[in-house]
Amino acid sequence: MSYDIRDLALAQRGHQRIQWASRHMPVLNQLKEEFATEQAFRGKRIAASLHITTETAVLLSALQAGGAEIALSASNPLSTKDDVCAALVEDGIHVYAQYGEDLPTYQCHIKQALAIDPHLVMDDGADLIIALHNSPAGGSVVAGIEETTSGVVRARALAADKLLRFPVIAVNDTPTKHYFDNRYGTGQNTIDGILRATNTFLAGATLVVAGYGWCGRGIAMRARGMGARVIVCEINAIRALEAVMDGLQVLSMAEAAPLGDIFVTATGMAGVIRPEHFLAMKDGALLANSGHFDVEIDVAGLRQIATGEQEVREHLSEYQLPNGRAVYLLAQGRLVGQVAAEASPAAVMDLSFADQALCTHYLLNAQHQLAPGVYDVPSDIDERVAQLKLQALDIKLDTLSPEQVAYQHSWQYGTEG
Ligand code: SAH
Repeated sequence: MSYDIRDLALAQRGHQRIQWASRHMPVLNQLKEEFATEQAFRGKRIAASLHITTETAVLLSALQAGGAEIALSASNPLSTKDDVCAALVEDGIHVYAQYGEDLPTYQCHIKQALAIDPHLVMDDGADLIIALHNSPAGGSVVAGIEETTSGVVRARALAADKLLRFPVIAVNDTPTKHYFDNRYGTGQNTIDGILRATNTFLAGATLVVAGYGWCGRGIAMRARGMGARVIVCEINAIRALEAVMDGLQVLSMAEAAPLGDIFVTATGMAGVIRPEHFLAMKDGALLANSGHFDVEIDVAGLRQIATGEQEVREHLSEYQLPNGRAVYLLAQGRLVGQVAAEASPAAVMDLSFADQALCTHYLLNAQHQLAPGVYDVPSDIDERVAQLKLQALDIKLDTLSPEQVAYQHSWQYGTEG
């Protein structure tokens, strides 16, 4: 048993919090029972790089119940929960992660997780996949699974350069993942992170969202629900139109900069808010990032123009600008909902992680020999996850009668004939 964590003595608190999350993850718990009976992953080794949260612990425990040996490293140095790490080590998972670890340690921990010689890698941001492609290691890997938008983009880029050495399933792209986790999970956790870091008042505030993808839509929807006036910045004409017809104002960042009280990036793109924008902002503007890596707000550019910097609250730094105003950066420009709050709640991670669990089952089943490439989640998995969640919520569906099925497949019925 090998590990590198902050403090094993935190395990009991970790177990308690994991249990609380588990209560809200009925689908994963059902899969856990199935995996345990079947011993679905006996003899298999899995390396995971995920946000180390109570929800992740529930996923790993389902895989472990199926017989898998698991090594875990972080997918973001600031989202790691040290008590969860301790509980997982106590449960026999090799964990290499500490909250706030520096970049060299983070990278070293990724190597340590890969030293398990995994059959499968499970990524959030593609760090394991990329690390495997940068080294000759990874002899036993048969497949990967990617959880998030930015990681899918990286895996696709590897595939486009013909470098991807194994099949990767893009869990992010499946409806039971991004319709719910990205939209409602990120929508809620981003607002949660902003409120915890600042205790700001949303009603009547102007909140600027850069990016109207699934995460941006959720953030805009929830901010509006709490009374904020929402402005959207987009580069995509169709998404911009969608925002307009959702009743939101669409402006360029240059136009929005002087208007916003709170700015949130959810684009997956680097350098979305830059020095020329900081200088145009109101005194006291808040800057939060919800997406991708810590590159959407140009933090280096902000530091360069700032005449002073100080931490005013946990996860909140003030930057004095040469024009006499100050702007406030949340969570160092890293994902605010993961760093200043607790990421997506268990009830929604139940879906994403049920997808992960069933894709693991699918990929480690020797019948499926896939060529290197990025694949969608098989549609029967997506359907099953939705059905299981509805069952757990005790929600009944209507079913089509034989006449309705016939109608559905006929061309004879209509106005003509
Ligand atoms: N890896 C990038 C961005 C990904 S964060 C970075 O760290 O900068 C977004 C991902 O976190 C989502 O795809 C979501 O599935 C995952 N996530 C959200 N809440 C989570 C939770 N409670 N536990 C584990 N992962 C979570």
